[in-house]
Amino acid sequence: MKTKICALCQKEETTLYRVQTTKGKVWIFVCAECCNEVKSKPDYRYGGTWKGYRH
Ligand SMILES: [Zn+2]
Repeated sequence: MKTKICALCQKEETTLYRVQTTKGKVWIFVCAECCNEVKSKPDYRYGGTWKGYRH
């Protein structure tokens, strides 16, 4: 099982969401909680889900 660190809260997670929170080409990986928080931003874009495990 692989993990990544959330770019906003630095929590280690096995499922992260690829999002943009500002205009531009910068994508960050965030956890579910932080994803919910940045969803309300006007420049929020969703770019996919990263999973560190297989079913
Ligand atoms: Zn987070």
